[in-house]
Amino acid sequence: MQNNTENNILAAVDPTSIESIKSDYNSLDIGLGRGVYVSTYGCQMNVNDTERMYSLLEMAHFNPVQTPEEADLIIINACSIREKPVHKVYSEVGRYKKLKDKNPNLKIGVGGCVGQQEKEKLIKQQPLIDFVFGTDNIDNLPNLVSQVYETKGKEKIINAKFEHRAPYHVETLVRNPGVSTFVNIAKGCDNFCTFCVVPYTRGREKSRPLSHVVMDVRTLVQRGVKEVTLLGQNVNSYHTDNGAGGEYDFADLLKKVATDTDIERIRYTTSHPKDFNEKLMHVMADHQDKICEYVHLPFQSGSSSILEKMNRGYTREIYLEKIALMKKYIPNLVLSTDIIVGFPGETEADFQQTLDLVKEVQFETIFAFMYSPRPFTKAAQFTDQIPEYVKNQRLNHLFEVHEKMAFELVKKYQDQTLQVLVESINEQGKAQGRSTQNKLVYFMGTKELIGKTVPVRITQAFPSVFRGELCQ
Ligand code: SF4
Repeated sequence: MQNNTENNILAAVDPTSIESIKSDYNSLDIGLGRGVYVSTYGCQMNVNDTERMYSLLEMAHFNPVQTPEEADLIIINACSIREKPVHKVYSEVGRYKKLKDKNPNLKIGVGGCVGQQEKEKLIKQQPLIDFVFGTDNIDNLPNLVSQVYETKGKEKIINAKFEHRAPYHVETLVRNPGVSTFVNIAKGCDNFCTFCVVPYTRGREKSRPLSHVVMDVRTLVQRGVKEVTLLGQNVNSYHTDNGAGGEYDFADLLKKVATDTDIERIRYTTSHPKDFNEKLMHVMADHQDKICEYVHLPFQSGSSSILEKMNRGYTREIYLEKIALMKKYIPNLVLSTDIIVGFPGETEADFQQTLDLVKEVQFETIFAFMYSPRPFTKAAQFTDQIPEYVKNQRLNHLFEVHEKMAFELVKKYQDQTLQVLVESINEQGKAQGRSTQNKLVYFMGTKELIGKTVPVRITQAFPSVFRGELCQ
């Protein structure tokens, strides 16, 4: 049943969004008879961007293909958060030389954060690359490709300008959303953590209007989606005009998606401890029927002095206070985190504080990385860089400590019955799904279960995967 508020929301949706893009691109015949292959590495944001690229190129009649060998257009969509992404791009393009020799009409483009960061440098270093585009230019991709074909590859094209002032309006584009999919709610970041390249590769933070996100989720539900993950570099700083002189924040958005759509499950990522507030905890607690009790809350370092050098905007104590409060609101809370070891100036004592924090919070999952200097970032200029072998030792030590802990922590799931949303089933009848705690669960089932949430008794619990039996 739609109420007045919902009607207002519907009316507020930008009528010029995807439909107008679609009709523009449908009139391009550039993709007719041509296959496109997008090679992706990076975070969920990049995976989501790849879906968007395929969808846009399909509008311009390109045919997505499974291998680079079948393609007339290859796009490399590469993340630059971790080490050596540019080298990876060069070596991947190098591997396509033989394909280019065979097919002179094959065009190669580089996008994503690497495109944004390197721009014309990519083409200077690797002349096999025909075009480069940035993270704010994806929606223009069919036009860009069209230009590339028109010039017969004689001109190299670079389109990597940030559109700082343009609103962030266009809806989710995903070809086969399946059971669970991502919905972008915000892009870019204004936090400038001193280790992070995202503010330089994704630009200033922009939030999508709340009404657009709600509409997207409703449309996805109609297409059979049962679970959405609201996605942004820092979802907790989501803010958008509420049309009444104030603002909606992330807690408002989460509540609206929970109450005003028929989606069965909601997740979100990534959170920032600085912006994670009590209002959000409240909303999560009130809507546990839909909002999963799993939160990924990166702490990065257990040492307040390192956190300050990282420009994270919170201390160890504040982080722990927030965790305690979250556990009060959501007693069954399941936590994972990101950690950087070997940040410049990190002493053994600082590292010990990181280990202690992991033990104290009892994270069931950690994603830990060695610090690596990224271009443009402040920390890359710090003179107290930690030797590689020390970073390596610390990372290994952290994994050892956590692995022991994680085996113990997940024992509690043994014999518990978890609600599993079934995503797929293989030929042998092995079903795969996720529990509300974000645990990957395998059990024997039938194809009819895909898209259903079913009770599964856990028979074996390992840190990264569970096995179970369907409860009849
Ligand atoms: S919050 Fe910090 S780590 Fe996260 S994207 Fe922004 S700058 Fe990077």
